[in-house]
Amino acid sequence: MRGIKSHGLNTMLVLVASWMLASCSAEENTQEQTEQSALKTAPRQAEPSAIVLSDAYKTEIASLAGRAVVANAFEDIVQQDAQNIKDLIELTEIPAPPFEEQVRARRFAEMLRAAGLVDVSIDDVGNVIGRRPGSEGARVVAIAAHLDTVFPADTDVTVRIEGNTYHAPGIGDNTRGLVMMLSLLRTMQTLNLTTHDDILFVGSVGEEGLGDLRGVKHLFRAGGPQIDAFIAIDGGSANRLIYGGVGSHRYRVTVNGPGGHSWGAFGLANPHQALGRIINNFVTNAPDVTNFGPKTSYSIGRIGGGTSINSIPFSSWMEVDMRSGNQEKLDDIDVVFQQAIQAGLMEENTARKSGPELTVEIKQVGKRPAGMGNPNAALVQRTMAAMNALGIEARPAISSTDSNIPISLGIPAVTISRGGRAERAHSPDERWHNEDSHVAIQIGLLTLLSEAGFPITCNDCEPKAPE
Ligand SMILES: [Zn+2]
Repeated sequence: MRGIKSHGLNTMLVLVASWMLASCSAEENTQEQTEQSALKTAPRQAEPSAIVLSDAYKTEIASLAGRAVVANAFEDIVQQDAQNIKDLIELTEIPAPPFEEQVRARRFAEMLRAAGLVDVSIDDVGNVIGRRPGSEGARVVAIAAHLDTVFPADTDVTVRIEGNTYHAPGIGDNTRGLVMMLSLLRTMQTLNLTTHDDILFVGSVGEEGLGDLRGVKHLFRAGGPQIDAFIAIDGGSANRLIYGGVGSHRYRVTVNGPGGHSWGAFGLANPHQALGRIINNFVTNAPDVTNFGPKTSYSIGRIGGGTSINSIPFSSWMEVDMRSGNQEKLDDIDVVFQQAIQAGLMEENTARKSGPELTVEIKQVGKRPAGMGNPNAALVQRTMAAMNALGIEARPAISSTDSNIPISLGIPAVTISRGGRAERAHSPDERWHNEDSHVAIQIGLLTLLSEAGFPITCNDCEPKAPE
């Protein structure tokens, strides 16, 4: 039996949703302060404070976890530790910046084949896709980890080992995610665990930075493989359950003019001064959006340009990041931003005494759709129940991961932990501690089996009641 439809029976177990956007406590504190100061002006819409795990899914997952074959699979996962470390070191030492994932992708494809998949290919943008056929194949469940890291190609990615700790850029985020996927696959092959649905094992490209989720965007294109549910592996702590996508709009704005001598050409429109006016307009009006409703953020991240202290610059640029878990709010803050650009530019052009008007170039460098996942969706409930079955209290949250794309399309998706304990992600001293790392893989297995339709009882192998 599968496909429990009723969400009616709720347990007393209420899992508190922490509205964390990152697992970093400093960021949470900052967020709290921001919330408090926003409340001084006008209260923002309350965020969901609790997600309830339904009894039905709790029972389904408990039955699944109780099957002897699943207990054997759990043990097999524990036994794979040495192989997982070997894979982790090998894959980490293949550099994979966004847009340069090819070598790692080819090796990962070989590893999927070695683990037992026959149908493995690399698609037009570089995603590695391995299909494991189900007994019926009516649905497709994808499990994915991103191939890319944030580090440039010339970064030293040699793994340094210190006891249980492995040091190297990219080792946790997200090489360990790829290793977890291989481990899941190997266990399913070894124990011959056949699901009803097809499973796609995906190594995606371009999750980080300016990769802008290009891999999953391609995966979910019209005419792509029809995916019914999506599980991304890309989280630090074992209790992290991402069920909603923080979207972002990112721009590089450049104001251009003739430039000239600060004294001799005084009166020309000045690109830096225009940029100042633009920023002032934006930060003055943005709170009209950010002080109300679902959390929405903006940040002027980088600014630059100019020739010398005694020159009117010919160019001034900035990079801006805006985010929200709600697409309407993201669109609203974007409108405020675009208006601020035009108004600031006009103010500086109007103030000029001589020379041509300034022009502006607006380049969108990032666009990740936002979407609130449904906490009652079967996949979200099954993931929570799987964590619960292994003694982990889920911390539901929203974030920006590969799951943004399916969530924005209304396709159920979660992002789960890659296991172990990671520190200093996105920094050159990234490290990963091999602590209880099998637990996340076991959670992944329960989630994947239940979502892809693995029988929760076995007629031939369970002892029958006497007649
Ligand atoms: Zn990642």
